Amino acid sequence: MSNIVAIVGRPNVGKSTLFNRLIQRREAIVDAVSGVTRDRHYGRTDWNGKEFSLIDTGGYVMGSDDIFEQEIDKQVELAIDEADVVIFVVDVETGITGMDEDVARLLRQTEKPVLLAVNKVDNAMREADAVEFYGLGLGDYHTISGINGSGTGDLLDALVELL
Ligand code: GDP
Ligand code: MG
Repeated sequence: MSNIVAIVGRPNVGKSTLFNRLIQRREAIVDAVSGVTRDRHYGRTDWNGKEFSLIDTGGYVMGSDDIFEQEIDKQVELAIDEADVVIFVVDVETGITGMDEDVARLLRQTEKPVLLAVNKVDNAMREADAVEFYGLGLGDYHTISGINGSGTGDLLDALVELL
C-alpha cells in the first residue's frame, strides 16, 4: 500500500473528527472522553485524483501520566515509520500543552513531511489565536475545523502535493 497519511496528536484535539470528515465515512469512533482504549483506524480515500490511506491514531490507554505520554510517543513514532506524510493536530481552544510540545519534539526529528493542523478554528475570531502554534517550531500551519469542515480543503490540497 502506498501513500500513507497518519493523523497524530494528543487526545481530544479532534483527530477522529478530522479522520471521519476526510474519509467521509463514520468509521472512527469519536469520543469526548479521553483515555478510552481505541484501535487505530484506517480508511482509503482520494483528493484531486490522488488516492491515499489515512490512519487515525489514538488507541491510547489511560494509566499513570507517564504511561499516557509513552503511549502517545509510541503512536507518533509508529506513524513516522509507516506514513509518507504526518498530519499533526492541535487544539486552538486549549492552546499549546506539554503533550503537544512532546509530540512536536518527535516530529521535528523526522525527515518526513509534517502538516500542522490547528483544529477547532470554527470561526474567524479564532484565526488570531492560532498564531501561538508557531511556537511549536514546525513552521506554518493550517487552520481547520473538523466539525464544520472549514480549511480542510486547503489542508487536503497541501497534503496531496506532498504525496
Ligand atoms: P481525538 O481524541 O483527537 O480523536 O478527538 P475527537 O475527534 O474524539 O474529538 C474530541 C472532542 O473535540 C469531541 O467532543 C469533538 O466533538 C470535539 N471537536 C473535534 N473537532 C472539533 C472542531 O473542529 N471544533 C470544535 N469546536 N470541536 C471539535
Ligand atoms: Mg480519536
